[in-house]
Amino acid sequence: SREIQLASRPHGWPVPENFRLTETRVPELEEGQVLVRNLAMSVDPYMRGRMNDVKSYSAPFALDAALDGGAVGEVVASRSDERRKGDVVVHGLGWRDYAVLAAAATKKVDPSLARPTAFLGALGMTGLTAYAGLTRVADFAPGDTVFVSGAAGAVGSLVGQIAKAMGAARVIGSAGSPEKVAHLLELGFDAAFNYHDGPAKELLRGALGEQAGIDVYFDNVGGEQLEAAIAVMNPFGRIALCGAISVYNSTEAPTAPRNLATAIGKQLTLRGFLVGAHQDLAGEFAAKMSGWLAAGTVRFDETVVEGLENAPQAFIDLMRGANTGKMLVTLP
Ligand code: NDP
Repeated sequence: SREIQLASRPHGWPVPENFRLTETRVPELEEGQVLVRNLAMSVDPYMRGRMNDVKSYSAPFALDAALDGGAVGEVVASRSDERRKGDVVVHGLGWRDYAVLAAAATKKVDPSLARPTAFLGALGMTGLTAYAGLTRVADFAPGDTVFVSGAAGAVGSLVGQIAKAMGAARVIGSAGSPEKVAHLLELGFDAAFNYHDGPAKELLRGALGEQAGIDVYFDNVGGEQLEAAIAVMNPFGRIALCGAISVYNSTEAPTAPRNLATAIGKQLTLRGFLVGAHQDLAGEFAAKMSGWLAAGTVRFDETVVEGLENAPQAFIDLMRGANTGKMLVTLP
């Protein structure tokens, strides 16, 4: 079997030399364990934080050991009554061809609902992040005007479509290329802009048009776009702080948002969240999302890279915006 290890910690932007592909021996199964042949693995922005040696909400990756993260695979051997050979499961040991882990640490999925990779994206953690962040953390209500950054990405593209499906008055998205902006309009966003085209505040005001301001901002990127959103929030607006990818690779302390004090007068709510704390919504989310997907109300994109050996580059490219929708690595 093969696995990808962390060879050194990135300083600033990750580079291929930070990673190493290694051959390993698959250990014998112990009682209660399963052997999973991974079909696909996820690369996610939060993994960048785990490559630093700092305490955060998830433990740092160890040097010279396999990375880990979301994966979907097929059980090929089992010493547990809970899982059978042939089951398709989601689990946390990506970045390797074969995973040995406790059956209890795997989640069985129904492959008749969608292709296996969907359980790493729209029907998995990504989708729940969008749903919980919008409906609970940002307390979305029908009639709200919603702005989401990173809108062509995995989480963001779902946020915008879920907001539309649930009765948003207007949904605005931002992304990093003209192609992505065009794609957002195809997905049903009312307006979209390329944040490289000028100051975010002006671009956002332009996208709002006649509309007074925004009620909900779903923040995937932080920095300048967060500052722009604060500037155009309506009174009592709610901001869900989901991610801050614009600062994940920076080596200096960020400056924006410089207008945070205006949140006082507008009586805004800014609330950070972690999807793991909202697992109680998983059932409700799965029911709604499978309905929306079946009806074609929500669509999801995948950017697929083939081969474990290409996973480090897929991760680096994700940070640079090479993906539309969920960035995945398939392991043929
Ligand atoms: P995405 O699919 O959105 O991929 C990352 C995207 O970020 C890229 O495609 C790129 O698109 C964009 N990006 C990169 N650099 C910048 C920048 N400087 N400014 C603005 N955009 C940038 O990833 P996910 O959907 O998986 O994650 C989105 C966010 O949600 C991340 O911040 C992530 O950390 C966070 N997250 C948080 C969770 C939680 O529990 N709180 C759970 C899951 C994700 P572009 O071409 O548009 O620049």
